[in-house]
Amino acid sequence: MKQLTTDFGNPIASNQNSLSAGELGPLLLQDYQLIEKLAHQNRERIPERAVHAKGSAAYGELVITEDISKYTKAKVFQKGEKTPLLLRFSTVAGEAGAADAERDVRGFAIKFYTKEGVWDLVGNNTPTFFLRDAYKFPDFIHTQKRNPKTHLRCANAAWDFWTLCPESLHQVTILMSDRGIPASYRNMNGYGSHTYSFINSNNERFWVKFHFKTKQGIKCLTNEEAEQIIAKDRESHQRDLYENIEKGNFPKWSVKIQILSEEQASKLEFNPFDLTKVWPHKIAPLIEVGEMILNKNPQNYFNEVEQAAFSPSNIVPGIGFSPDKMLQARIFSYPDAQRYRLGANYHQLPVNRAKSEVNTYNVAGAMNFGIGDNLVNGAYYEPNTLGGAVENEMYLEPDLVIKGNANRYKAVDNDYYTQPRNLFNIMPEDEKQRLFKNIAASMQGVKEEIINKALKHFELIHPDYANGVKKALCK
Ligand code: NDP
Repeated sequence: MKQLTTDFGNPIASNQNSLSAGELGPLLLQDYQLIEKLAHQNRERIPERAVHAKGSAAYGELVITEDISKYTKAKVFQKGEKTPLLLRFSTVAGEAGAADAERDVRGFAIKFYTKEGVWDLVGNNTPTFFLRDAYKFPDFIHTQKRNPKTHLRCANAAWDFWTLCPESLHQVTILMSDRGIPASYRNMNGYGSHTYSFINSNNERFWVKFHFKTKQGIKCLTNEEAEQIIAKDRESHQRDLYENIEKGNFPKWSVKIQILSEEQASKLEFNPFDLTKVWPHKIAPLIEVGEMILNKNPQNYFNEVEQAAFSPSNIVPGIGFSPDKMLQARIFSYPDAQRYRLGANYHQLPVNRAKSEVNTYNVAGAMNFGIGDNLVNGAYYEPNTLGGAVENEMYLEPDLVIKGNANRYKAVDNDYYTQPRNLFNIMPEDEKQRLFKNIAASMQGVKEEIINKALKHFELIHPDYANGVKKALCK
């Protein structure tokens, strides 16, 4: 058996009995082992994520089976390339102890450990989002969280906000549809959601969206089924993912992209960088790219899942950003959240660490393990004549043409209804009925004037949508 030690490796004689003055006496301050144990316990929790607090993750691999080199030079997307990854699923609004089978958007955040550094794709199980400008993001999240006075979740706040921000109607329709409660993380699609750019070896830019289609088939729960599950098991998604991977039943997703040239994008009737909109398949058909598999459970949930930190700012050559205003804000706010939650050197934690070489002049800071701070030839500043790591202009992106004057622009596209209508129209009749029921259920306790405002919006999506919800509200 191994010798039990303190955190500094000093052998421990007793882990059962504290050091006391006499058999019945008070404890001694000298008992540093007891103090270390209690003090460490007080520090076992770190701030939970303000959003996506409850999550499950697994390791796996991305395999590229098709040649898409005409769109991107990124090594991770070259045919035959295999890239290890960590995929973290989550619910968005609930706290770390929330039940898995709640109606909510699901996070679908993937960390690819590529040969050119870490690439994080911070997606969801929905191709869209409630907002298109992150200025509204903190307010939106407040409506999803607890009311500060009652400390209860507040349907009135959610519907008040949604009806005043009708760009959210598309995402609300997805959320209230069957897909608002996936049966498990294995049975849902993932979407990069934002528009990103691809850059090929000729330095040409394309706009791209990422899709991960479940090979387990889409399976969803009704409100009633979810309630039954939650009554017995708050960890149903975690259990399903963990147990299936332990059994060797590895979940898979086919990986697809949509591509638009810069010219095609400039001619669209809607803003291709608006996160509340999809690119209809007719305009940008899905292109097969490869397959993603999850095949290994983390060994330690806290170390590898709670401490996993994802950010769209982790990007690799051949993949870039877009003018999507939500993406632009997440590039700042995600790493900022991780610096707050985990500290300045969170990138050095094993789960977050690049598997390729890191050479940086960022040094020191709390909990520094010296990863990447190689100080090549003793160079700790740059530029230097010591032969330290240097930049390479071959990674510069092509010019992005920007037009206009700086100002706080309102979105020009006020068509909040066409895309939710397209979705409504493809729903089979029984799903439409469940959509009405789910919306009516979510409106319990909502003020009449707000419900009426919502009905007016539904009417503009489709008269059947408004009538269906009206009827469901009367039941
Ligand atoms: P298509 O008929 O070509 O595509 C319909 C898409 O809808 C499919 O990707 C399907 O996903 C998905 N879908 C079916 N039921 C639901 C649901 N309840 N919630 C969310 N997605 C669902 O038409 P369009 O490309 O013109 O899109 C029509 C509407 O479909 C859009 O307005 C949008 O709401 C939704 N959608 C579109 C996507 C896109 O990228 N174009 C992606 C996902 C949804 P699957 O193949 O997995 O069954």
